[in-house]
Amino acid sequence: MAVDKRAPRDADLAVSGMLSRDPHDLAEAMDDFGHIVRKRPQAVFRAASSADIAGLVQWAAARGLRIAARGQGHSVYGRAMSDGGIVLDMRPLGAVHDVRPDRMVVDAGVTWSTVLDRALAHGLTPPVLTNYLELSVGGTLAVGGIGGTTFRHGMQTDNVLALNVVTGDGRELACSAEVNSDLFDAVRAGLGQSGIITQATLRLMRAPGRVRRFHLFYANLPSLAADQRIALADGRFDHLQGAILPDGNGGWKYQLEGVVFYDGHAAPENKAVLAGLSDRRGGADISDLTYAEDVRAFSRLENLLRSNGQWFHPHPWLLTFLPGSSAEDIASDILDGLTNVDVGPFGRITFYPLLAGALRTPLLRLPDEDVVFPFNLVRIPASDDALGAGRLVAGNRLLYDRIRSAGGCLYPVSAFPMSQDDWKSHFGPKWSFLHEARRRYDPPGTLAPGYELF
Ligand SMILES: Cc1cc2nc3c(=O)[nH]c(=O)nc-3n(C[C@H](O)[C@H](O)[C@H](O)COP(=O)(O)OP(=O)(O)OC[C@H]3O[C@@H](n4cnc5c(N)ncnc54)[C@H](O)[C@@H]3O)c2cc1C
Repeated sequence: MAVDKRAPRDADLAVSGMLSRDPHDLAEAMDDFGHIVRKRPQAVFRAASSADIAGLVQWAAARGLRIAARGQGHSVYGRAMSDGGIVLDMRPLGAVHDVRPDRMVVDAGVTWSTVLDRALAHGLTPPVLTNYLELSVGGTLAVGGIGGTTFRHGMQTDNVLALNVVTGDGRELACSAEVNSDLFDAVRAGLGQSGIITQATLRLMRAPGRVRRFHLFYANLPSLAADQRIALADGRFDHLQGAILPDGNGGWKYQLEGVVFYDGHAAPENKAVLAGLSDRRGGADISDLTYAEDVRAFSRLENLLRSNGQWFHPHPWLLTFLPGSSAEDIASDILDGLTNVDVGPFGRITFYPLLAGALRTPLLRLPDEDVVFPFNLVRIPASDDALGAGRLVAGNRLLYDRIRSAGGCLYPVSAFPMSQDDWKSHFGPKWSFLHEARRRYDPPGTLAPGYELF
């Protein structure tokens, strides 16, 4: 249903009055965390309500202008930008509406950090949190949202009960598994192509009070992966991740990160948790934290990178999923061609297994196997050299081609150009569903130009 009942001229004036052409706003909207792509919009729109967004969408469609929703701007390749169009700043849509024992209703511009704060005040938590919490709810639901508990609970898009959406033809629609389910499936991990998420009902569960965190180290990738596979199969950890880290001497460190949740005095026995694992036990780093301290751990790295300037350098990231049957081989092969400099002293290569069955979002693309491995080049270059960043972007393209031909898939938070044919091949059997949803919900083709999908 189209909701803006104002006369067209009034609606035009209302939209025009909310457009900013302030140089500071435009400069912010033409940059992102990647600092690689720059596209100048003609204006920035600050939405105060879903009805404002519906009005904007109709106004822009009538003028052939394209709209990019922007949450926190942590994309790495201009995906929240609109060249000559409008950037829709979602931050003013930042209210938490309702917290119940099993769910919370929030505006899409809210960060996961705020969601967590509000949930923890009731002893609750979202089942899945991204490692970095200053991302917007709408921004992660547009791509998926993966975290340390994904092997058990799926993506953040698997933990959404309902959404309110403004479609590309300016309708305000509610959707869920029961109502407008095609829109619900098209919007979750749908790269913003069918609608702008304005509100989300997020699943909540009881939060643990404390955690025991285990950082275990290995001599090489196969021994890391072997223990990760054991831990995935027996479920001894409540949070399971891992990474290959620069060791500062040109080599690599192989780290398993496992977390056990507990309450009160029922602390886990380290010996029991670690039984049967073959890490270099002397090097293990074991800490006991509150749940809140653990899930906010990334903020220490953020502070460090802000203070040494590397937060503001280009970030040519490459995020993918590898098929479990050959993950070690593909990763080792790629690692042979990388140096510490390709990742940066504080960068990392994320590598850990997931049970694919826990991930059910239709538009999230995964290798067709029971176990898949996120394999992410989280590059944090020590210098802000644009030429160097360009070389890494070109390198990402070559690595993606290798990963794709080995059966891997893209997690579409990555820095390199994708052609329409690349996107078709990425979505594979889901392409026709996405294409049809785009035709039905955004016939003018107004939304999310930054992905260059259509
Ligand atoms: C330091 C850091 C750590 C990260 N850690 C993780 C992690 O642990 N797990 C993970 O999954 N990802 C992670 N990411 C990637 C992150 O999830 C994505 O980049 C996400 O899209 C960023 O959210 P944002 O609010 O900044 O979105 P933006 O960059 O503002 O937007 C991202 C995309 O979503 C679209 N979008 C934004 N809001 C809406 C909306 N309301 N409706 C429809 N579309 C919308 C935009 O148009 C754009 O295409 C990380 C990124 C950074 C920079």
